[in-house]
Amino acid sequence: MEKIELTKALAQGQQMLAEVTHESGGVRASKCYQCGKCSAGCPVAFAMDKTPREIMRLLQLGLMEEALKSHTIWLCASCDTCSTRCPREVDIAKVMETLRIIAKKKGYVAEKKLDQFHDLFLKSVERNGRVYEMGLVLGRNILGMQPFKDVELSPAMLLKGKLALLPHTIKDNGEVKKIFANVRKRGGKV
Ligand code: SF4
Ligand code: SF4
Repeated sequence: MEKIELTKALAQGQQMLAEVTHESGGVRASKCYQCGKCSAGCPVAFAMDKTPREIMRLLQLGLMEEALKSHTIWLCASCDTCSTRCPREVDIAKVMETLRIIAKKKGYVAEKKLDQFHDLFLKSVERNGRVYEMGLVLGRNILGMQPFKDVELSPAMLLKGKLALLPHTIKDNGEVKKIFANVRKRGGKV
């Protein structure tokens, strides 16, 4: 690569890293020194195409597009194990969330079904103040064109009180709606 191209690529990489830091409210992936503790403790790492450590490295190298197109960011369960274990105090879970937001904005969603599930979950919480499981499952099945998926499990779950036929709305749902309205006002997509 010619010197001028290399300089350009490096500057672009720095700009992308700055974007992640800004969007995540100050998390600096540049602090990561690649020890791998995050990946060793991640309960979903076995299913990821890139480990959390590799995602940090991609960001440091300015290879943002590769990170944004990964399945990893959608499979992350936001459990915070990585963030708790990181010796450099990098909030990796927050970086994953930030990458999901940026990926959505740029149209790179590697796991469309999981993205739909996130949206349905949030809508349910906004409407009822808590998640309405039956509605969530039905919505997911309809969007996935499998309306009767797992339907045989419902009678037993209903009988055991694990599923409710109708949604239970919390008492002061207006406060939850206000949170969603504030996020939208600040440009958030929920
Ligand atoms: S635990 Fe922290 S320092 Fe270690 S690889 Fe993960 S992000 Fe980097
Ligand atoms: S927050 Fe995500 S990346 Fe971190 S340990 Fe949990 S599932 Fe893995």
